[in-house]
Amino acid sequence: MKIDILSLFPEMFDGVLGSSILKKAEEKGIARYNVINFRDYSDNKHNTVDDYPYGGGAGMVLKPQPIFDAVEDLLQNNRGKKPRIILLCPQGETYSQKKAEELSKEDHLVFICGHYEGYDERIREHLITDEISIGDYVLTGGELGAMVVIDSIVRLLPGVLGNEASPVTDSFSTGLLEHPQYTRPANFRGMKVPDVLLSGNHELIRKWRDKESLYRTYRRRKDLLRHYPLTDQQKTWLKEWEEGRS
Ligand code: SAM
Repeated sequence: MKIDILSLFPEMFDGVLGSSILKKAEEKGIARYNVINFRDYSDNKHNTVDDYPYGGGAGMVLKPQPIFDAVEDLLQNNRGKKPRIILLCPQGETYSQKKAEELSKEDHLVFICGHYEGYDERIREHLITDEISIGDYVLTGGELGAMVVIDSIVRLLPGVLGNEASPVTDSFSTGLLEHPQYTRPANFRGMKVPDVLLSGNHELIRKWRDKESLYRTYRRRKDLLRHYPLTDQQKTWLKEWEEGRS
């Protein structure tokens, strides 16, 4: 997957793209990152990328020219296929695991990181394919949002995580929150690991995890259960919890 990032602060990406799983993905040739400072595309002799808003008001607005030129330059080398062009924006669709899974099927993504008061609306209307918000709060710039989105996508690419199965059981991938996890020692300062996990009985362990995953979701994120296809066993457990029977 090719990932182009347009930002006014490319140095912000060094640590994140150069560490851990994202770095390994690049070393394995699975992901390729290209961070571009779109200030370099400004056609203005002072290299400005922003200007005052028409109609007055606080803050500066990103001009369309440097961003359009930077994206068009990227597309020139793209042999016709249009990538997904993603604008980080608090007004966009709220990011989710479902969206990460959808974007992980693409082979080229372009991220545009805003700054200042916002973007000229023509960027939103005529250049991009997706608008993503990472939550209902306002950040200084789109860089942190782009890092969140890129991290969640790259870890889904085949061959990136050591154990191919691990993203499949993650919270949200299954539609539920993940079950609790324990590791050695079995008894830490008197706090014990549930017996079933030490039993070696794989069927019992699978059932325990299934129930705990549902229970955790029921207690913390009931909203996720609204469209979840429950099995008969899961319906019985939910009924018991609703009636306070277990
Ligand atoms: N005035 C804008 C508004 O009210 O919608 C907010 C601009 S914000 C200070 C500057 C930039 O940070 C945005 O253009 C966007 O790129 C990024 N940003 C801020 N909050 C974000 C969020 N929740 N998700 C994704 N990007 C965000």
